[in-house]
Amino acid sequence: MRELRAYYDTPAGTAKAVDGVTLTVDPGERFGLVGESGSGKSTIAMAAMRLLRPPARIEGGQVWVGDVDMMGASEDEVRRLRLAKVALVAQGSINALNPVARVRAQLLDGARDHGVRFNRREADSFVADLLEQVGLHAEVANSFPHQLSGGMKQRVCIAIAVCLRPEVIIADEPTSALDVVVQRQVMESLRAVQASLGAAVLLIGHDIGLMAQVVHRLGVMYAGRLVEVCGIREACREP
Ligand code: ADP
Ligand code: ADP
Repeated sequence: MRELRAYYDTPAGTAKAVDGVTLTVDPGERFGLVGESGSGKSTIAMAAMRLLRPPARIEGGQVWVGDVDMMGASEDEVRRLRLAKVALVAQGSINALNPVARVRAQLLDGARDHGVRFNRREADSFVADLLEQVGLHAEVANSFPHQLSGGMKQRVCIAIAVCLRPEVIIADEPTSALDVVVQRQVMESLRAVQASLGAAVLLIGHDIGLMAQVVHRLGVMYAGRLVEVCGIREACREP
């Protein structure tokens, strides 16, 4: 994105949420965005997917996902891109799991929504592969969400999000609701999935220590501005 500017129009007036942010995440790169609450991180994530709705408003700049101009593209084109190329994982994704469907069904539904059809054997190996990618045992496929821990559920969400091998993964506070040890495990799942896909990752969070372990570059947001971007030394993180 380049020179992105976003505002919220509220009864109390217009507030600037993103103030001229320029940011590129390359394929294969994990880019972390940290900053205090209200600094504009989520607005950036939503703008990147063209999911901002009133009272939010984008007033300037460009957003590209691969070679698609997200601001100029048609609704159809954006919808297709969101389905085929971009995965969104959020803190609230756990709540969007269907409480009365087994993990297996939810993973397959994720693929079916995209028009993928499997025979039984293909479905089995698809589910097993996905679960393995996020570090879950194959037996998890037969579980209902309430039988899983928070960290396992969040990994299922990651598996659903990446079931069609997206080129871009946007993860907005994916581990905030989890305890510290589990946060690391979920981050590691995200890292492993991304590495195997070669996807570009925009990871939003507030725990700099945790983020520094998984990202290549870390950007700091302050009052709608990207005020600092630094590379994370190889020694500080896993490959
Ligand atoms: P360029 O040859 O500069 O890449 P494009 O028409 O492809 O020209 O892109 C227009 C602008 O959008 C460029 O300035 C580029 O920096 C930016 N851009 C292109 N691709 C991306 C991307 N994947 N992520 C962020 N910004 C991008
Ligand atoms: P972060 O993700 O860093 O916490 P946000 O992008 O959610 O930041 O918010 C950026 C700014 O936009 C904040 O000042 C916030 O108060 C404002 N904002 C976010 N959502 C809304 C909304 N629905 N209505 C009005 N203002 C909003």
